[in-house]
Formats: sequence, C-alpha cells, structure tokens
Amino acid sequence: LETEVHHFQRLDSLGNLAGGVAHDMNNILAVILNLVELQSARLAEDAPERRECETIKKACTHGAELVRRLTQFARKQMEQPEPLDLNALVRDEKDTLERTTLKKAEWVLDLEDPLPTVMGQASEIGNAIINICINALDAMPRGGRITLRTRALATGGVRLSIEDNGTGMAPEVLARALDPFFTTKPVGKGTGLGLATVYGTIKAHGGTVDLQSQVGVGTTVHLSFPPVRGEAGEVHAAADGAEALPP
Ligand code: ADP
Repeated sequence: LETEVHHFQRLDSLGNLAGGVAHDMNNILAVILNLVELQSARLAEDAPERRECETIKKACTHGAELVRRLTQFARKQMEQPEPLDLNALVRDEKDTLERTTLKKAEWVLDLEDPLPTVMGQASEIGNAIINICINALDAMPRGGRITLRTRALATGGVRLSIEDNGTGMAPEVLARALDPFFTTKPVGKGTGLGLATVYGTIKAHGGTVDLQSQVGVGTTVHLSFPPVRGEAGEVHAAADGAEALPP
C-alpha cells in the first residue's frame, strides 16, 4: 500500500454547515425533551413507561452534548494569539499524557532547538496535541512508540509531526478521518470530533493539517504553522536546514 497524504479544505464550508445544523438540532431536541417530560409527569410513579421516558431523555442529553461539541468546533476562532514556544508546549503535553493515561507507550521527543516562534493559543494547540496523541494511543492497544517531532520550515514557519506505529488507517478511513462525527470506535468511546477539532484549531492559526497513514505501519499527523511576521513584515528566526514535508 502506498503512503497517502491528504489535504483537507472542504471542512471550512462543513464548519459553517455544522453551525447551522447544530442550531436546528438543538430546537428539535428541546421539543422532544419537553414532550417527554410532559408525558412522564402524566404517568403513575411505578409505570414501566417511565423507564422508557428516562431513556429518551438520556438520548436527548447525549444529543445535546454532541451538538455542543459541534458548535464549539464550528465557531472555532482564535482569541488573542500569543508568542509560543512549541517545543515547551510539546514537552508539557507529553508529560501530562504520560502521567495521566493508563495506556503505556514509548515516548520519543525529537525537537529542533532553537525553533521559530509560533503565534497562537497554548491551550488550543495543547488540546490538539492531546487529541492526536490519544488517537495514537488508541491505535496501539498493545503499546508502541509515539514520536513528537518539531522542525523549522523553509517558509519560516514550524511543523509539528506526531507519529505512531499503530494500526494505521485504510485509505477509506484516512479520507474521512477529519470529518466531524466520523469514527470507527465503539459507541461511547469515539465522538468523531477529535480530528475535526484539531483541524478547526490549526486552521484558525493559519496552519495546515496533513495526515499520512498506512495500515500495519502507522500514522503521522503533520501540523504546520505559518511564520510569525514582525512589524516590518520580516520573518523572525528564519530557519536553516528546514526540510520539506516527506512525500
Ligand atoms: P474519534 O477518535 O472520536 O474516533 P477522531 O476524529 O479523532 O475521532 O478520529 C476519527 C477516526 O480516525 C478514528 O475513529 C480512527 O478510525 C481514525 N484515526 C485517527 N487517528 C488515528 C491513528 N493515529 N491511527 C489509526 N486511526 C486513526
């Protein structure tokens, strides 16, 4: 199987669409929730239908939670960006994951130092790193290696690549991996919003997301950030030895 690199653009319009659908869906859920509560109130305390009403209510709540996450993704826009040390952020998130996840992996840091500054929100980029690493851990049920690599780009920007040697994705999974709600994980485990949220975040930072995956070999997620431009428009800390995205 050939290694696949995917570029995603159509998610922009999908994000707008998602926002609209989410709004209507909330209204629909509110109608169902109101009516089921009315019905439930009319039933005797011990009526077996009460359990069914509870199940409907739970399903509505679950739906509302999905809608909430979807609108969060659709409305993704950046607050005040700050100069970030991406290497430090990568180290922090890796330490947090190593301490807090039950799944064990061999963590490898391959960080170019010094690295050009990235403008952005540490919490949002940190969340993106965590989402990607959790997918990597999920793809390695019997353990494996996760490599976090930073590189200066010839453009003056920065690339962060997160590589795992897990199951990898079949081409049809890879093609849809960034789609909101697309998941191959069991109900209750995957929401399908992990990578869609990553995409929204990186897009808001003016960056790009590329996925590379091969079944039985593993997956690499490349996040590229644009160069930081100074007042006069010059590029800060332009990099030597910057490399291009591997084919
Ligand atoms: P979720 O993790 O909730 O399923 P995501 O949007 O993060 O949602 O991922 C969508 C799907 O992409 C996953 O269900 C999985 O099939 C696939 N995927 C994502 N990351 C990886 C990875 N590192 N290795 C293998 N498959 C992956």
